[in-house]
Amino acid sequence: MERAPAQGTIVAHYGVAVEVQFAATGEKRVVRVKRNSGHVVGDRVEIVEDVLARLQRDSELSRKDARGGVHTVGANLDVLCIVVACEPLPPPGFIDRAIVAARVAGLTPHLVLNKTDLPCAADYVRENLRVYERLLRTSQVSAESGTGLDQLSGYFREGHRGIFVGPTGVGKSSILNSLLPEIDLQTAEISQSKKRGRHTTTVSTLHQLRDGGELIDSPGFNDFGLVGISVAQLAAFFPGFEQAGGCHFRDCRHREEPGCRVTELLATGEISEERYTTYLTILTEVEALESQPDYRERRHRRKKKG
Ligand code: GDP
Ligand code: ZN
Repeated sequence: MERAPAQGTIVAHYGVAVEVQFAATGEKRVVRVKRNSGHVVGDRVEIVEDVLARLQRDSELSRKDARGGVHTVGANLDVLCIVVACEPLPPPGFIDRAIVAARVAGLTPHLVLNKTDLPCAADYVRENLRVYERLLRTSQVSAESGTGLDQLSGYFREGHRGIFVGPTGVGKSSILNSLLPEIDLQTAEISQSKKRGRHTTTVSTLHQLRDGGELIDSPGFNDFGLVGISVAQLAAFFPGFEQAGGCHFRDCRHREEPGCRVTELLATGEISEERYTTYLTILTEVEALESQPDYRERRHRRKKKG
């Protein structure tokens, strides 16, 4: 007799096996998968006997590594927490890129400033982060002192599933450790020595927060090249350009087109030269991608694959 397929969610990925948590019972089971099988943490799956079928994704977040390889880091999530600190500072343009990436993937960007206990934090907020406060949700926390963490977990309690991205050393593991006391992620001191051992398996895990909400912990997700983005999306999603629907041309690239709202905002100082330069840099990158003969088609296919 055929058994009805059991539905569950992938809550951990070990490279050649995944852990599935069943929706009906909450039980967990490890199922072997092929390396690069395309399953990621957050995927909803059906299991019959030992065969895993992936169900349609509502969203997925992908990154491009330095060699151009595309990796999906998580599925069915709705929030991208962009974690920054005044020490180490993010590379130029990091926050804007991450916000665009989140919006392209259909996720809500949430900017988290960690290490508010450091003396450099106040100046950093004033000079660099104010601009984001009216554009998206922002949090200020200190994993060290605990400041702001209740508010952050309160946000996830509304039922969000999120993932942290941010440069190495900003405190992503420390925040996760504070929000999820039962796990014990390696923070900087320990992992430095481990990095020399090349063969550590990358484990990606979906953690349930005690009072609700979920966080995906995906090691090595520090940075990402933009994946599958179009010029139109960039021109619409770049933070601060939201109102640029007022540009004279509907497909305005905000360069030197007449009647461009963005260059007006640049002239009045509402958009800084620095952030506009970031936009132009990304625009040039995306234009180069779009001019590759098969880029549009691949983009389309990726979207349809679901
Ligand atoms: P990750 O690479 O983003 O995961 O960063 P880690 O969590 O490994 O933290 C990097 C370093 O920053 C460690 O030495 C932490 O102890 C330190 N750190 C993390 N959070 C805070 C904080 O809120 N304040 C201060 N002063 N240091 C912190
Ligand atoms: Zn424009």
